[in-house]
Amino acid sequence: MISVEEALKKILSYVEVLEPERKPILDCLGQVLAEDVYSTIDIPPLDNSAMDGYALRAEDTRGAGESSPRYLAVVGEVAAGSMPTKEVRPGTAIRIMTGAPLPEGANAVVQFENTDEVNRKSSGGDLPQIGILCQAKKGLNVRGRGEDIARGNLILKKGKVLRPQEIGVLASLGRSTVLVIRRPIVAILATGDELIGVDQPLAPGKIHDSNNYTIAAEVSRYGGIPKILGIGRDSVQSLTEKIDEGLDADMLITSGGVSKGDYDIVKDVLAEHGEVGFWTVCMKPGKPLAFGVMKKVEGGRKGKVPHLGLPGNPVSSMITFEQFARPAILKMLGKKILAKPAIRAIIEDDVVDTDGRRLFARVSVTRRGGQYRASVTGPQGSGILTSMARANGLAVIPESSKGVKAGDMVDVQMLDWEEEQGEVKTLPIVSIVGKSQSGKTVLMEQLIAEFKKRGYKVAALKHSHGGMEIDRPGKDSWRFAQAGSDAVCVSSPDKLALIKNLNHDLNIEKIMSIVGSEFDLIIAEGFRKSKIPKIEVHRKELGDDLLCSPEELSAIVTDESLDTAIPQLPWGDTVAVADFIEKNFVLKARTVPSTPRGKKVK
Ligand code: AMP
Ligand code: MG
Repeated sequence: MISVEEALKKILSYVEVLEPERKPILDCLGQVLAEDVYSTIDIPPLDNSAMDGYALRAEDTRGAGESSPRYLAVVGEVAAGSMPTKEVRPGTAIRIMTGAPLPEGANAVVQFENTDEVNRKSSGGDLPQIGILCQAKKGLNVRGRGEDIARGNLILKKGKVLRPQEIGVLASLGRSTVLVIRRPIVAILATGDELIGVDQPLAPGKIHDSNNYTIAAEVSRYGGIPKILGIGRDSVQSLTEKIDEGLDADMLITSGGVSKGDYDIVKDVLAEHGEVGFWTVCMKPGKPLAFGVMKKVEGGRKGKVPHLGLPGNPVSSMITFEQFARPAILKMLGKKILAKPAIRAIIEDDVVDTDGRRLFARVSVTRRGGQYRASVTGPQGSGILTSMARANGLAVIPESSKGVKAGDMVDVQMLDWEEEQGEVKTLPIVSIVGKSQSGKTVLMEQLIAEFKKRGYKVAALKHSHGGMEIDRPGKDSWRFAQAGSDAVCVSSPDKLALIKNLNHDLNIEKIMSIVGSEFDLIIAEGFRKSKIPKIEVHRKELGDDLLCSPEELSAIVTDESLDTAIPQLPWGDTVAVADFIEKNFVLKARTVPSTPRGKKVK
């Protein structure tokens, strides 16, 4: 068995960066630039206005203010796209629109809001004149010529992956085409007598081919051009015919026919038509993997097509594609970074891995309480493609480990980031605020007891303006801190305390990430200035006004009826307050679990 790294290294040693081609810029998204792009122009080409307003001489606004306008004669107007016909002389101004070239003589633009234009218009005042209501510095609201791009400079370097912003930069330089490394054509072939096309009715013993589709979509996603060869049957002749059709491609990917079954003949075909590397890779799923180069004859010239023979099981083929075919395609595209982005996440389920292979567990990653959490997406059989459909990442359990337990940290290769990553869940946190003596602490105590009774894991958070009680002078922890340690962590068989020196108040998100996200609910006392949901305790005897403004509050616990639209909960009815918190925070913060928590996955 060879390791994942060895297999990848070998495969990459057989693929080359492809040659450049010139293409319209809009067709190059995600491709690698194959030329250095210099600018032949200045951008912006002229000094111009960053605001709608008046172009003037900063000197003429000296001493101007709301109550001491400086009046200038308006001698013209200039819109974006046209050139000024007049210059700004002392005591004059020119009305100017955003993007319009700055008139000769002007060195600043004062925006409309800082002039008396609106008042002047509404009161039928003199328009050839304008009152300037602020003092302008030289250069105010002026975008200088060449400020973004100066003529002659290297703007985009060879090797840059073109994103929408680079395509925009090319357009702004006036480039309609550009040299990029061309996209690889990847021929794709499914193999197996049991396979039928998606548009054919199922017959006994048959299944629809899905691998061709998964793989073609993956090829497109990573920048290649898929060429589907169809379905090859389990005979040397059928496979050879099909493979021949794919020899003009830059790479050939087959699925199926590489394990030890009688009909697994891809390796035989490879052996006959190319050089074979037939490996068992130390990974799960995806142990059998064939790699070789197919010989091809091209216009009398002999060439070679790298061939990757992926296992047939839909999950195995997809995971091996991710590990081996994707980096190969990226390399051909000229990309330097071939690895998927990886994160560290807390795994939410036990995962058993006893046979010493690197396990790729399909997980759904979400971010909660400032931490990534990875939940296994159900049964992990390598034929269960829906477990991939539910996943946005692969948790990588090293070959040296026997598995992980729920709560352990794991590395996760993210298959998807962006929108698919999962929304940031609302923190299961609520803060009890109120004036001093309103009974916040009593309510906290009652709520904690109530939530424990309901079976929740609760953490209480208290903001203490007056320092920490546990950090008393003379204690060992205090002495260590005195000696200069930045943090002191005290652990005992049943408790853990972290005393960390700070030079500022931590925000609640940071505190939450230290507290950890194993709790179902965090009830905080205080933290009035933070943005967490708040419930204010209001007592009639402490005055009519509320401590927080209404838009900050989720509810008010009160002993009198208040004239407000905010939900009011009766003071003294802890069950009602707990119901409110449970419904609005605890349950809402939960993800919809795809599978029960704490299951074991093999
Ligand atoms: P093989 O690697 O050919 O032994 O195939 C392993 C398993 O994957 C078998 O259950 C096949 O039916 C299944 N399989 C192979 N190719 C495909 C495919 N293109 N689409 C769906 N399932 C497939
Ligand atoms: Mg097969």
